[in-house]
Formats: sequence, structure tokens, C-alpha cells
Amino acid sequence: MTAVHTFPDNEIYCTYIPSDMKYYKKYLNFYLGKISGKIRWGYLIYFVTNRCNAKCKHCFYWNNLNKNEELCLEEISKITTNLGRVQVLLLSGGEPVLRSDLFEIISLFIRNNGTQVVSLPTNALLPERISTLVEKLAIHFPSITFSVNPSIDALHEKNDEIRGIEGAFERSVETLTKLQALRKKYDNIELVVNTTISTFNYRDIDKMVEYFKAFDITYHNFELLRGSPKENNMILPPLNEIKKLHLKALRARNYYIDKKKSGLLEKISVLGITKYAQTIKETVLDSGRFPFSCSAGKNIIVLEPNGEIKLCELLPSVGNIKEHDYDIEKVLNSNAAIKLMETVKKCKCTHVCFINMSIANNKKTIFKVPYYFLKWKK
Ligand code: SF4
Ligand code: SF4
Repeated sequence: MTAVHTFPDNEIYCTYIPSDMKYYKKYLNFYLGKISGKIRWGYLIYFVTNRCNAKCKHCFYWNNLNKNEELCLEEISKITTNLGRVQVLLLSGGEPVLRSDLFEIISLFIRNNGTQVVSLPTNALLPERISTLVEKLAIHFPSITFSVNPSIDALHEKNDEIRGIEGAFERSVETLTKLQALRKKYDNIELVVNTTISTFNYRDIDKMVEYFKAFDITYHNFELLRGSPKENNMILPPLNEIKKLHLKALRARNYYIDKKKSGLLEKISVLGITKYAQTIKETVLDSGRFPFSCSAGKNIIVLEPNGEIKLCELLPSVGNIKEHDYDIEKVLNSNAAIKLMETVKKCKCTHVCFINMSIANNKKTIFKVPYYFLKWKK
């Protein structure tokens, strides 16, 4: 029997879809790099720390939080030396900005792995720290895109309740305000508000969409609650409601595309890919099949704070990079990894990161994207 996995929100969305032609050029480079074999990893998801200053009800990683297990800068440097090209680095945790050496870590990937896009999900509770880091990055690396993703799951006290922190919403808005000011100064910063949909907030989505339209954000992204969250009664809304929410998410995305006066090509790509990914998730939740073999371990991989390597966040570790000369390829050549790769072929789940990378890896995508664009309003 094929296992169906759903994922919790652990602040990871992997929804980086470029927002203007400059980034399409990067995507084109990515495909050329892939074809020529120069790019090894489309996405590296690095849980850079498991320290966290929030207590979110929807956290799936809560059991791993606040254990003192982190790779030091020297170890990370060794890993990057052996890693090959990484197009998108997604830093997760825990709360990534709690690492005081995050700038140095990101610099290593940019310099050693040719990373073009750095995605930084954050619980947005430390406005000064986040904005200082992002500004430093934007100045030092003007050709790199920094996609900063504050997670905000409801308005006002309801967000605080979900995050388990009094005043969380206020701090998130302060973070957003500081980051939108930076966006006016640096054109390599993207600001994407991430909202995780669950039974706690799905009725508030319209209000949230309207609220964040007042900010200068790149777009507002919605993802489904995944996995087994810390709070047992936090679950997904019923499928018929999810379908309605998906349409609302597409309309919100279309609003930001129109606001930016983007071209038709961008509209087709962004809405087509998003609709395609949503359709796959709906099919999986409806106990249907995954339309392709998952890309986990092929062009997307997970590095845990303590050096464990996972093909995806849900599957068990296939080995610790520290025991394999800090070389990810050696871990992937282990018996454990080869055996697990076999099960991935029949696996399915709703994790957008892996769905998007699987879409990117599929030859039929070029035809599917315009097809799903034509269906996006349905
Ligand atoms: S911010 Fe929330 S969801 Fe993210 S790791 Fe911390 S507790 Fe978990
Ligand atoms: S291998 Fe792919 S389909 Fe299976 S659980 Fe992991 S991300 Fe989901």
C-alpha cells in the first residue's frame, strides 16, 4: 500500500516562484544548469538550528526544538565544499535568525555553491535582528535574491494564540514594516507573508488577505497545515473547504501579479504552477495518486541541525554527514539511502516544496502549466 504523508507547518513553504523577468532569467539558468549537469541541487532545505522562541500550536518540529545540536561554521564550510551547486537555499529551524552566524553561513553557500536564491522563513518575532541581517545580505550580495517569509497565521490576538506568544502579531507587523522599507531600498529582497491554513483560521482568510494588501509585500502565500502538529485538535479543514481556499489563494496571488503590472508570461507561469500544485494536493488528500515520482533525494534534500541527512522532512535519516566526511554524496551512496530511495518512487504527500521540485523535474510541466493556467478560476 502506498503511504500518504501530510506535513505540518514547520515554517517551510518552498513556494519560491519568481516574481519578475529577472528571476525568470535565473530559472532559465537553472534549467540550463540542470541539463548541463552543473546544478546538483534545486533546493537544499537546511534546518540551521532547532532553537526557537515561539510555541506554535501547528509546529510539527516541536519534539526536536531547543536541543543543543548545531553544526559549527567550520563543519558547514566542509559541507559546502563537497556539495556542488545549490540553486535555492531554504533555511529553516527552529527560528533561523537565532543563529548569530547566519550571515556567515549564507555567505558560504553563495560563495561555495553558487546559490542564487536564499529563502528565509521566520516567525517574525525579532524585527530588529531580522531586518539588520536582511539589509546586510542585500548590500553584500546585490545579485542574489533574498526571499524573506514572515509566518503570520491570523490577525491580532488569534495569531498570538496560535504562536503561543503574547504580542506576536504586533512584532510580526513591526518586522513586516521594517522589511517593506528595505524593499524600497534594495531590489533583491522579496517579502512573502506565509499563512498556514487549518481549522483554527480558515474562516479568517478573506480578512487576512485584505489586511495585508495594505503592505508592500511581494505576495501572500497560503499553505495547508501538514502532519501531526503539537496541538492535537489543530487539523485541516474538509476537502470542499480546501478547494474554496485554494481558489482564494489564487485570487490573492493574481492580485499581487496585477498590482505589479507583470506580463502575461509571469501570470501564466505563476498561476499555472500554483494551480497545478494545488490540484496535486487535492488529489492526494482525496486518496488519489501522485502523478509522478517524488524528487526527494534527487534534486531536493534536507540537512538537519545535527548533520543528519533526510531525503525529505518526513522520512527517517539516511545517515549523518559528519560520519561521511561531510560529503552528502557519500551519505546518498549508503545502503540506507539507496533502500529508501526505492520507497520514494511510490510515495505521495502534500508537501509543496517537494511537489514544486517534482513539477520542475517533470518533462510534461511545460504543457501542464498553460493547461492549469486556463483552469485557475475554476
Ligand atoms: S516558529 Fe513555530 S512552527 Fe516554527 S519552529 Fe518555532 S514553534 Fe515550530
Ligand atoms: S518522499 Fe516525497 S512524497 Fe514521500 S513523504 Fe517525502 S516529500 Fe512526500
